[in-house]
Amino acid sequence: MQTGGPSGGCIPADKIDLPVDYESLTGAGSIMGSGGLVVLDEDSCMVDIARYFLSFTQEESCGKCPPCRLGTRAMLTILERIVAGQGQMADIDTLEEIAQTVKDGSLCGLGQTAPNPVLTTLRYFKEEYKEHIEKAQCTAFVCGELISYHIDSDRCSGCGACARVCPVKAISGEKKNPHLIDQDTCIGCGLCLSTCPDKFAAVYRRSGELTRYENQKYPSG
Ligand code: SF4
Ligand code: SF4
Ligand code: SF4
Repeated sequence: MQTGGPSGGCIPADKIDLPVDYESLTGAGSIMGSGGLVVLDEDSCMVDIARYFLSFTQEESCGKCPPCRLGTRAMLTILERIVAGQGQMADIDTLEEIAQTVKDGSLCGLGQTAPNPVLTTLRYFKEEYKEHIEKAQCTAFVCGELISYHIDSDRCSGCGACARVCPVKAISGEKKNPHLIDQDTCIGCGLCLSTCPDKFAAVYRRSGELTRYENQKYPSG
């Protein structure tokens, strides 16, 4: 759960019994803030969630004090790199260091709480950061740069529907024969996935070590 609005933190499922009061939420690294509470499931990428909320507070920073002005920008740059598959393991320590500096050194509440999404996702979901960096894997299949599209030749009927909608003509194949996606041309728009008829469900995605078919709720590993 994400509580407290954009400056709040993310609390893992094993804290479901945590009382919703100021002290308990602060102890878990979040805040009561605006009183918002968002429930997220396995289809939410926690690194992308941190990036998303930080992009809001970074935009809102008035720029008066350097820790907030420079720190939120620096954290956002690192997070953008990680979700794009260009992160390094050293980024994790750097993020933690900057987040703490911004929290401790900012003048007002915005800067003091802006690092919460980063600090809590690092505290409770560090594994997801490592997967993005070490395996180029987004387990939630959210980060587009870490996802590739493929066609299962055993399932493909060669109907050609995917090739007709592909905006960059990345799909080739003879009628009634398995089709193929040219990975160098594909821009990852996902139209082939949504177009392939359910009875075939031949288009699947890969991210790192995971494979996911459209009709699967969970990655098969
Ligand atoms: S902490 Fe507050 S005063 Fe300082 S730059 Fe951020 S918004 Fe402005
Ligand atoms: S994901 Fe988009 S660009 Fe890539 S093959 Fe499918 S339709 Fe074409
Ligand atoms: S839409 Fe599906 S079944 Fe038809 S050619 Fe494309 S991948 Fe094969």
